[in-house]
Amino acid sequence: MRIDVLTLFPDYLSPLRLSLVGRAIETGLVELGVHDLRTWTHDRHRTVDDTPYGGGAGMVLRPEPWGEALDELLGPDTAPDADGPRLILLTPSGRPFDQALAAELADERRLLFGCGRYEGFDARIAEHARTRVRTDEVSVGDYVLNGGEVAALAVIEAVVRLVPGVIGNPESLTEESHAPGHDRLLEYPVYTKPPSWRGLDVPAELFRGHHARIAAWRQEQARARTRERRPDLLPPAEQPVVVAEAGPG
Ligand code: SAM
Repeated sequence: MRIDVLTLFPDYLSPLRLSLVGRAIETGLVELGVHDLRTWTHDRHRTVDDTPYGGGAGMVLRPEPWGEALDELLGPDTAPDADGPRLILLTPSGRPFDQALAAELADERRLLFGCGRYEGFDARIAEHARTRVRTDEVSVGDYVLNGGEVAALAVIEAVVRLVPGVIGNPESLTEESHAPGHDRLLEYPVYTKPPSWRGLDVPAELFRGHHARIAAWRQEQARARTRERRPDLLPPAEQPVVVAEAGPG
């Protein structure tokens, strides 16, 4: 997989050189290019932003450097192609990122990430990008970060760990929280040694060595934890019934 990141702060992406993603890059499973958006500016101040039309606070990212960056990274006359690259523009108003989207992106051969800053992207950046490359606007959650870099780090890490060969034991991917093989439930509680610590004991079920019973216990724990913490993740038939309050009169 080839990943390119467009950012005003290339150093923000340095953690990608560490740990499992770093090893995936070293071993050639993933190729990474981090590009400073200011490369595609032409004035003395290397300007990438300007004031918003219509007034309002803050600055907006101008479209020209993004257009030139795409021309260079994709080639000048590309059109969206199902087998071609996919561009992810990070924005709090995008499609919520989740494990299903991570799995979808892990199947791609080439991903580009655009990190916004200030008040975000001039709307024409996404509009134009859609004519050149498959483009998704993606949000990592209902909160606002200062820039897209931390969001890109989260998305890239979640995607790269699903690329075959990156995680040593692929089975560890199937039993995780949100994993399709795990009914998208939260993970059951996990324990290691010692068996008793500060008065807290590992549940006895885990010592009996009966695989089917351990699996059943874990399944029940995962379901109970999901019911308590994230009932919205349960299948519709298991969702708690919400009783609407009667209005006045
Ligand atoms: N004014 C924008 C709004 O209200 O939607 C927020 C701009 S934010 C301060 C600057 C940049 O951070 C965004 O362009 C985006 O790239 C990134 N960003 C912030 N929060 C994000 C989130 N939840 N998901 C993805 N990217 C985010």
